[in-house]
Amino acid sequence: MGPQDQPDYINAVAGFYSHQDPHALLKAFQTIERRQGRTRTLRWGPRTLDLDLLLYGDQVIVTDDLTVPHPGLPERAFVLYPLYDISPQLVVPGLGPLVELLERCSAEGIRRIE
Ligand code: ATP
Ligand code: MG
Ligand code: MG
Repeated sequence: MGPQDQPDYINAVAGFYSHQDPHALLKAFQTIERRQGRTRTLRWGPRTLDLDLLLYGDQVIVTDDLTVPHPGLPERAFVLYPLYDISPQLVVPGLGPLVELLERCSAEGIRRIE
């Protein structure tokens, strides 16, 4: 993603239950990003931590500051492959089965870290 002259980066996908609504989660993510010393310089450039809300159950959310499913999800191999690892049967709200998104997305450029 973004400028190609940046170091490799590590991506992961986590699934969890929460009592917080999606906007509250976004705020919580941003607080954690700030605590990790995140500064905003170049778009999609190197950063200490980026926490994005990929999905929120089967909800589709489109507001000024939050879009769920995350708009980059269908074309980002570094999201789709780790998402498949934890939820192979997933149907992405509004987009269809995860396996079908994966079929359209090359794994070129990503590498599994054990
Ligand atoms: P990208 O969103 O393309 O992965 P990024 O993660 O680098 O890029 P940020 O600078 O972290 O972008 O976030 C920019 C804005 O995206 C945030 O201020 C937030 O309001 C908005 N945003 C919209 N939808 C989401 C989402 N699902 N998860 C996280 N941020 C989101
Ligand atoms: Mg991001
Ligand atoms: Mg982000």
